[in-house]
Amino acid sequence: MSNHSRKLKFKAETKKVLDIVINSLYSHPDIFLRELISNSSDALDRLRFKMLTTPELDIDRELRIDILPDEEKGLLTIRDNGIGMTEDEMAAELGTIARSGTKGFLDGLTTPDGEKTPEFIGQFGVGFYSTFMVADKVEVISRKVGSGEPGHRWTSTGHDTFSLSEEEDIPEGTSVILHLKKDMDEYLKSYRLRELVRKYSDFISYPVYIKSDDNSDWEKEPVNSQKPIWTRPEDDVSDEEYNEFYRHLSFDTQEPLSRLVFHAEGTTEFYSLLFIPSSRTMDMLMPDYKAGVKLFIKKVMIEEEADELLPKYLRFIKGVVESSDLPLNISRETLQNNRTVRVIMKALTGKVLGWFGDMLENETDKYRQFFTNFGDMLKEGIYADMQHREELADLLLVWTSRSGDEQKSLRKLVEELPEETDRLYYITGTDRKELASSPYLESVGKSDVEVLLFDSPVD
Ligand code: ADP
Repeated sequence: MSNHSRKLKFKAETKKVLDIVINSLYSHPDIFLRELISNSSDALDRLRFKMLTTPELDIDRELRIDILPDEEKGLLTIRDNGIGMTEDEMAAELGTIARSGTKGFLDGLTTPDGEKTPEFIGQFGVGFYSTFMVADKVEVISRKVGSGEPGHRWTSTGHDTFSLSEEEDIPEGTSVILHLKKDMDEYLKSYRLRELVRKYSDFISYPVYIKSDDNSDWEKEPVNSQKPIWTRPEDDVSDEEYNEFYRHLSFDTQEPLSRLVFHAEGTTEFYSLLFIPSSRTMDMLMPDYKAGVKLFIKKVMIEEEADELLPKYLRFIKGVVESSDLPLNISRETLQNNRTVRVIMKALTGKVLGWFGDMLENETDKYRQFFTNFGDMLKEGIYADMQHREELADLLLVWTSRSGDEQKSLRKLVEELPEETDRLYYITGTDRKELASSPYLESVGKSDVEVLLFDSPVD
């Protein structure tokens, strides 16, 4: 067996994140655990899906996540028996910044000396790299299910390079071994680990086990409740738990602006938990942006970015939909033509537009923030979705010659029109302040006419 070891350099961007992680204050070192558990959970989701689509793999084992503290050696291992990684995947995924959010994070760091970093980094998941907040050396041992490849060990001290070597007798899945820094031994105490798992990872749908301090044996019960958060009644779940789940789902640094918990019963039953982000990212505007809704069927994640569940103009919504009324063997291609999927989409769209309407009515300030970010997409819906056109129009906020600094609800405006008025005037341009003082307004004749000012290309 060859036992060659390759030494590879981190990509420049990765290096930058690593430096920030290592050199910034440890304001929230706890997050490394939720990041690792979140990665393990994704790897288990992918394996579960693969088991479904490749029955000849014949895998029969409890899918689980184990946390193994070793006080004597100062090692903390997070292990999963999920999909694992090939050698190339380890080099690519752990050596470069895979996630677009992390790139955004880098762009957001405006001060070259990293002045803004400490608080910032705590809220921000830098994924796997957060391990270097607590460890001065990290090893990842992994073997990919069904690849026929042997296992590999990735090692790095978080500086310029990492090394990769082949390794025998590695089980399928991934172990991340942290050589904890001297002052980080709190993460070897099982009570502390238990507290963190319950706080940040309770909703993870695979059991998380911890090996006890006294090294004797495993805790028999998983530490987390494993209840899918989207099937729990809203009253039983705290805001903090929802926000933690949102973070796991979206990699967003901010809390969600609003959430919708909706359980549909009747001919088609499904659970849904949806979020509106607090702000929009540039990529959301792109037509090929993938929807942020995950589809689960009978607890198996079938699609990570399901775009059959909501119309395209609602692509900024993140969340989960789970239904037991769909067949597990459904392919992504047939999802689109599936009658039940269409029923779900119809019900969900109605519910979502109602959610926006409620916000407009009852939480106007929040709605303004929402509309500033996503209003253009609602306008896109007016073109695209004939069926909901009127409802969408009622959700619009508009600038008018009299709106001042705050947009007005188009619906209210129409309702409050004098009885004899049967039309609304509008002018278009690029700058509403200019529009407001446009000579055209005078030519409308009557000074008491309120004119709509359309200043956005989508208008
Ligand atoms: P993210 O999870 O946001 O993609 P990370 O830096 O945390 O970013 O992880 C990078 C990538 O490494 C993951 O997308 C995944 O492909 C791979 N990876 C990380 N942990 C695991 C694991 N436990 N099992 C399999 N793949 C993993």
